[in-house]
Amino acid sequence: MASARQIHVGDVPVGGGAPVAVQTMTKTETANLAATMDQIHRVTEAGADIVRVAVPREQDVEALKTIVVESKIPIIADIHFNHTLAIKAIEAGAHCVRINPGNIGGPDKVAEVVAAARGRSVPLRIGVNSGSLPKHLRDLEFTNPVEALVTAATEWVDLMHRLDFLDFKVSMKSTSVPNTIASNRLLAEKIDHPLHLGITEAGTKWSGSLKSAVGLGTLLADGIGDTIRISLSTFHAEEEVKVAWEILKALKLRERGPVLIACPTCGRLQFDMDSVVMEVERRLEQYADPIEVSILGCAVNGIGEARHADFGITGAKDSAMIFSKGEPLRKVPTERLVDELFAEIDKYYAADKKV
Ligand code: SF4
Repeated sequence: MASARQIHVGDVPVGGGAPVAVQTMTKTETANLAATMDQIHRVTEAGADIVRVAVPREQDVEALKTIVVESKIPIIADIHFNHTLAIKAIEAGAHCVRINPGNIGGPDKVAEVVAAARGRSVPLRIGVNSGSLPKHLRDLEFTNPVEALVTAATEWVDLMHRLDFLDFKVSMKSTSVPNTIASNRLLAEKIDHPLHLGITEAGTKWSGSLKSAVGLGTLLADGIGDTIRISLSTFHAEEEVKVAWEILKALKLRERGPVLIACPTCGRLQFDMDSVVMEVERRLEQYADPIEVSILGCAVNGIGEARHADFGITGAKDSAMIFSKGEPLRKVPTERLVDELFAEIDKYYAADKKV
């Protein structure tokens, strides 16, 4: 049920069957060019497809002019309250502008932003947030928050249609996971514009990642959602990108880098698996291909899993069996396990490159 319509944020297609795009937002003051560019480089490296920057002041618009040129990934300018800044961000070269029509000053101001966006073929993101619904929906928000969110979103979509502007995506965010799921399911039945998903103010790395995985994962598994952002407080923006990728990889919606499968261990474990898993995970960060590596503590499930993975380790007493492409190779003592596993991985890639 991914959106039928497609827009382009810079060179990134969104919706209409395009891969689900990973977004994040810088946590720096945008006008601090060095810090903002440093963060944009780091989230790009981590796999962000698109990055949003807050533009609350004139000096942020000035910085934006340089940011859009220096960034390797498209930039969305995030604007609240001030439609003039939205227009200036469009003129500064933003690849997309996010506005919340509910706080930008009414339909006339929205129309001015739309005219500027149309003039430069810049898409908009229409953001509706449970914390900033229009006044006439605030009573409904208490009795039926899902209905209130969807009504706000569809009212703004209707306004866009009346303005004959279709180059936009919609986001509807709530701090409540069930409300986010229910409202996006309902909205996806009503409109065919791309949807951006997120759980707003999700929390710290631990709780925020889990809330996002449950909320966004449920919707993505239904085929709903064209871009995602994981909102985590207290962590670097690149952490949000890594969590987003783990969700997409878990659902097999996109591939990026290796996948590590490891059992939770139990009383059958007979080798030091903790340190092996940590070391394998650390070294796998250097590999770009989506290889699957399984590490299982004993033969109960280990042999079966190793047969499915590209590379595998199945534990035995103070040692483990290494598998490559489903075939058992040899038993190796724990202390040489990681080195020998990576020797096999490197051998495979060396051979692959010769072909
Ligand atoms: Fe326990 Fe073996 Fe299963 Fe790991 S693979 S959880 S050690 S039974």
